[in-house]
Amino acid sequence: MSYKVTLIPGDGTGPEIVETTVKVVEATGVKIDWEIADAGIDIMEKEGTPLPKSTLDSIKKNKVALKGPVTTPIGTGFRSVNVAIRKELDLFACLRPCKTYKGVKSVFEDIDLVVVRENTEDLYAGVEFDENSVEAKQIIELSKNKIRENSAISIKPISAFGTERIVKFAFDYAVKNNRKKVTAVTKANIMKATDGLFYKTAREIAKNYEGKIEYEERLIDNMCMQLVQKPKIYDVIVLPNLYGDILSDLCAGIVGGLGVAPGANLGNDIAVFEAVHGSSPKYKGLNKVNPIALILSAKLMLEYLSEQEAARNLEKAIAKVIFEKKHVTYDLGGTAGTKELGQAIIENLS
Ligand code: NAD
Repeated sequence: MSYKVTLIPGDGTGPEIVETTVKVVEATGVKIDWEIADAGIDIMEKEGTPLPKSTLDSIKKNKVALKGPVTTPIGTGFRSVNVAIRKELDLFACLRPCKTYKGVKSVFEDIDLVVVRENTEDLYAGVEFDENSVEAKQIIELSKNKIRENSAISIKPISAFGTERIVKFAFDYAVKNNRKKVTAVTKANIMKATDGLFYKTAREIAKNYEGKIEYEERLIDNMCMQLVQKPKIYDVIVLPNLYGDILSDLCAGIVGGLGVAPGANLGNDIAVFEAVHGSSPKYKGLNKVNPIALILSAKLMLEYLSEQEAARNLEKAIAKVIFEKKHVTYDLGGTAGTKELGQAIIENLS
C-alpha cells in the first residue's frame, strides 16, 4: 500500500532537512507518494503569497503532510504561514514529545515528557490593533484607562470550546499511550477571565478521567522553574497556545535542543508533521543543521499512518546514531552534515 502525503520543503534550511528526511523515510520500506507543495519566502517572491491555495488544497485532499520550517518576518511583513496552516485546517492540537536519547548533550537523563499545545486561539488569534488606531482607542476607552494611551493592543481569546477539545485530546493521548498524569498550565492568578476559563473547563474534562489519569495544575512561571529542576515528575502537559510555544522550546532544551525536538499538528482528520525548530536561515545551504527533529516528526507520521513497526525501527536507528556520536551534527557535538547524519540513520535501519 502506498500513502499519498503532501511534502512542504519550506524555506531557509527546510529544503535540505526535508530532502534528507524523505530519503530516510523511504529507506524504512513504507511506500509514500509525495505531493510537493510550496510555502514560505521563496514562493512569496514568485507568486506573491507565502501560502498558495494549492498548498492548502493538497493538504486537505491528502489529509497528511510533512512540512519543513518556514520563515516569518518579525514585526512587519506577512503573517506566519505556520499559524495560517494550523488555523485554516483547524489543526487544534500541537503535540510535542520531548524525550532524551542516550548521547545527547543534556544535564538530564530518561526524560519522557509530552507537551500538548492549543493551536488556534490565544494571542495567536491575530487580532491586533496598532497604536493610535480607531480600534485601539475604543478599547482603551472601554478599559476605563487601565490601558495606557497610544498603546498597541493584541487580543487574547480563549474559549470553552477550544479548551475542551485540547484538554480532552491531552487526556485521550494519556490514556492511549499509558501515561499517568496531565498537568494544565496557565497564569490564571493574573488572567482570571481567559486562563481562568481554561482551568475551569479543564477541571470539568478531568472528572471524566478520574481514577485513570491524574490531573494537576501549575502556574507557568513556577512550571518553568520546576521543569529545569525536576522534569521527571511531569508527564503530559497541556497549555494554551503562547505558553505552549514557549514551554515546548524549554522542554526541547531539556532533552538536547531543537535539533531533536519533533512535533505534529493534529485536527479531527488532518495531520501536519513538522519539527519544533524554525528555518535557521543563517545555516541555509550549508548542509549543517540536524535533520533528526524532522525525522522524528516523520516517525510520528508513520505512527499516525499505523506503520508502527517502521516507526519503531526508525526510532531505534536514530537512537543508535545519537548514542554512537560518530555521525552527528554540530549541535550534538559532532562534525557530520545533514546528509551524512541521514545516511547513518539509513545504514542503521534493520
Ligand atoms: P530557529 O529554530 O530557526 O533557530 C534558532 C537556533 O536554534 C538556530 O540558530 C540554531 O542554533 C538552532 N537550531 C534550530 N534548528 C536546528 C537544527 N535543526 N539543527 C541544529 N540547530 C538548530 O529559530 P529562529 O532563528 O528564532 O527562527 C528562524 C525563522 O524560523 C523565523 O522566521 C521564525 O519565525 C521561523 N520559525 C518557523 C517555525 C516553523 O516553520 N514551524 C517554527 C519556529 C520558527
